[in-house]
Amino acid sequence: MNNDDYKLELSKAEMKKLGYQAIDEIVEHFDTQHNKPPVARGSRKDMDKMFAAEAPEDPMDASDVLQFVIDKVMSNSNIVSHPKSYSFVPGPSNYVSVVADTLATGFNVFSGGWVASPAAAELEIVTINWLLKLFNFPAKRGGGIFTSGGSMANLTAIVTARRIKCGEDFSKAVIYLSDQAHSSNIKAIRILGFKREQIRLIPTDLEFKMSLNKLKNAIAKDSLEGLQPFMVIASSGTTNTGTVDPLMELSAICKSENLWFHIDGAYGGAAILAKNGKQLLKGIDKADSITVDPHKWFFQPYEMGCLLVRNSAWLKDTFTETPEYLRDVEGNESEINFYDHGVQLTRRFRALKLYMSVKTFGMAAFRKAIDYNIKIAEDAEALFRKSAKWEVISPATLAIINFRYHPIDRNLSEPELDALNQKISERVMNSGEALLVTTILQNQVVLRMCLINPRTTIQDIRETINLCEKFADEILSE
Ligand SMILES: *Cc1c(COP(=O)(O)O)cnc(C)c1O
Repeated sequence: MNNDDYKLELSKAEMKKLGYQAIDEIVEHFDTQHNKPPVARGSRKDMDKMFAAEAPEDPMDASDVLQFVIDKVMSNSNIVSHPKSYSFVPGPSNYVSVVADTLATGFNVFSGGWVASPAAAELEIVTINWLLKLFNFPAKRGGGIFTSGGSMANLTAIVTARRIKCGEDFSKAVIYLSDQAHSSNIKAIRILGFKREQIRLIPTDLEFKMSLNKLKNAIAKDSLEGLQPFMVIASSGTTNTGTVDPLMELSAICKSENLWFHIDGAYGGAAILAKNGKQLLKGIDKADSITVDPHKWFFQPYEMGCLLVRNSAWLKDTFTETPEYLRDVEGNESEINFYDHGVQLTRRFRALKLYMSVKTFGMAAFRKAIDYNIKIAEDAEALFRKSAKWEVISPATLAIINFRYHPIDRNLSEPELDALNQKISERVMNSGEALLVTTILQNQVVLRMCLINPRTTIQDIRETINLCEKFADEILSE
């Protein structure tokens, strides 16, 4: 470092050295991650001990900083792309998209407006069009936007729905979603300033689907009371069980009641790529808006969510707010400024990773991966069904299965079963061997596997089941 250090530069040789070192580490990680423990455990105290320090005034060697990060930071993070990472929703990712993200950051492409990067805007249009086509949304009028994730996509959907259906006054507006809907929806509703009284959590049936009868009753009652039902949020794949709400019937209700029909497909939307995807997600093309989360089951690294809308003008009408200094940036109608279609002005170039990975591997590889994921969850279900020790609680649905340890030769009470399965999960997590946590379904503590990693094998699953059985024996003999 010298007197020019305020320029925040490295020499060309130093840049290459650091870059190659980083790439070598990433490739090594991709190659060996399955041999590492997927679970990282560390208390705040442990982490403070490692990292808490004042911001240094003086420079350090870049390679040393990077090595410190590899050794201490990366090793203290869960490996969500590990084949035995079954919770919560794994992040299988793919290397091509990692390189794409590196390029997008390396060139620091501003992906907010046409004038800043026509190519980035165009690639967002092109890749959104790919998704629109998959979901059979209108090719010409339809649109969408890439977001940080599903939470932001749901927020964008709700604010758009409210703007289009309610205009400025939403004091009487009411929104309907099931008790299995993802928490990000409630969070978004709160962020947007709705009161608790404006939310109806509709109970689900024994298969975790939104009860149509209860929804109809709620809408009718609210209308009679002079309130304004304006939006139904359905799930196509709930995160807990992969359950798809009855989309066809919900769409008919929304149509006859003039409600916005949003489908949160952040988890399961990608199943549209499966062989029987149109059947699995029947009715998804009837939505006004769909959330999908490419950083889940489209195998992209974080952060990438997406909102698709039937009419792209809805986004423009909701988000356009042109300050004086952006006047000169306005192009013609067909040249989309994505800052006019969502919350963010300055945006990273998210489309690039989907674009490069689909071009490199081909859509057929993505289809195969998703078929594989759905099939392997069914294979796992078959293993549990054949065993005298396990009970399937929610069958394999969109690559998710819920189950619990429940040996038929033992007379265990419900509280004992809950405690047992909780302990199994804790011991598995403590062993570091697999990332497997519990969820609660119909008041039972159950284990859950989300199997969207195409590199997870049935052998991995068998090993994890064996591990659970070993811990169960230990616990029961204590
Ligand atoms: C994960 C998930 C979300 C939230 O998405 P993020 O990308 O985590 O913000 C919303 N809805 C469903 C159904 C999800 O599974």
